[in-house]
Amino acid sequence: MTLPCESTPARVSVRDGLPDAAHDVRRCQLPSCRALARRRIEIELPAAWEASATYTVLTVAVGACFEHAPELERRVAAMLEARADLYNLLTIVDGAVRVEAELRARLDLLAGSAARSGACGRRRR
Ligand SMILES: [Zn+2]
Repeated sequence: MTLPCESTPARVSVRDGLPDAAHDVRRCQLPSCRALARRRIEIELPAAWEASATYTVLTVAVGACFEHAPELERRVAAMLEARADLYNLLTIVDGAVRVEAELRARLDLLAGSAARSGACGRRRR
């Protein structure tokens, strides 16, 4: 989607100390660029980074120039992919921790059993 060039720039209160030019939504929102925005990029920010398969997002829209729009879209997609992978990765880690705990318990059981056998064996000698 292309941002209309003739639209009135939206202004935000300057309480944050940024110059007015930084709030001109007609400009690319990368502070180092400030070229005219030609594309509207929706950025879906995950509301939570927890071990859940589903999540909600907060969507913000920013204008970007033709040069920076593809990079913004790529990074947004990568962030959402990372959020989607988080559940699977945490599930894998949880499973590995559970298996390790079971194996440690078995080893402890075997070690205790071997110690009891060894004690008995020494008595026989
Ligand atoms: Zn730009």
